[in-house]
Amino acid sequence: MSELDKRLAGKVAVVTGGSSGIGQAIAIMMGKAGAKVVINYHSDENGAREAQQKIESQGSQAVIMQADVAQPEDCQRLINTAVEQFGQLDILVNNAGVQKDSSFVDMTLEQWNKVISTNLTGHFLCAQAATKEFMKRKVQPEEKTSAGNIIFISSVHDIIPWAGHVNYATAKGGVQMLMKTLAQELAPNKIRVNGISPGAIKTDINRSVWETEQGRKDMLTLIPYGRIGEPEDIARVAVWLATDEADYITGTTIYVDGGMTLYPAFSDNG
Ligand code: NAD
Repeated sequence: MSELDKRLAGKVAVVTGGSSGIGQAIAIMMGKAGAKVVINYHSDENGAREAQQKIESQGSQAVIMQADVAQPEDCQRLINTAVEQFGQLDILVNNAGVQKDSSFVDMTLEQWNKVISTNLTGHFLCAQAATKEFMKRKVQPEEKTSAGNIIFISSVHDIIPWAGHVNYATAKGGVQMLMKTLAQELAPNKIRVNGISPGAIKTDINRSVWETEQGRKDMLTLIPYGRIGEPEDIARVAVWLATDEADYITGTTIYVDGGMTLYPAFSDNG
């Protein structure tokens, strides 16, 4: 096993929404890189167990934990579990997210609140609980390592408006400013805060689109790079961002989108 393969050895990560899709891929890849992982799930215990088994088969450790990120006490439990089980916390991946789509005029307050409370408030709550833990550590400014690392899984819709999804786009736009403001506020504490904004990635959240041939075709018109993304495309970036190789990066969003944010509609003279 090369040093590169275990580049998160000794680190402890909490991954929210880790039972499926992007979160599951991140949990597994961080585990394979040597991190000990708390895998949060909301309702799919089997998906979380699958990730746990994959991590354990690679020689690292993982625990699974049911929690609703919209509840402050649940976020606190996730962080406490990392510390109680593995002795510390180094990385929080705020990944949990939902879609409740509707045209603006028909959107119910329930649909609005559900998405904002999971995709934005949930990220705030878990980031706050993690930050309190990170702040217990003292790392000197000149050290090339952090006291903690927060990664928000946002979306290209933190900059691309999305008709029919105003709750989702508003939450993701909020995550962008949450990320940047925390990065600014917490840099003196040596806490790094960044975002990864995926384009179209094949997961349950957009299954209804990529499941049909027409849906895949429509999706590809928005992706200059010509393929739909896989959860591992995001996980590889998350692992790297969590390592000290990325120590000087804070307050940045990495768009992992096959060029979706390049205004593909303008590629043929507008
Ligand atoms: P997914 O549906 O597979 O994953 C979402 C996860 O969040 C699920 O495991 C779900 O159980 C969990 N979750 C939902 N509500 C929760 C709650 N209250 N508490 C805890 N967990 C909860 O879809 P995904 O594509 O893997 O989504 C992961 C993240 O990536 C989301 O934030 C999503 O907005 C973002 N994203 C996805 C895409 C894409 O194309 N798939 C693109 C951009 C951004």
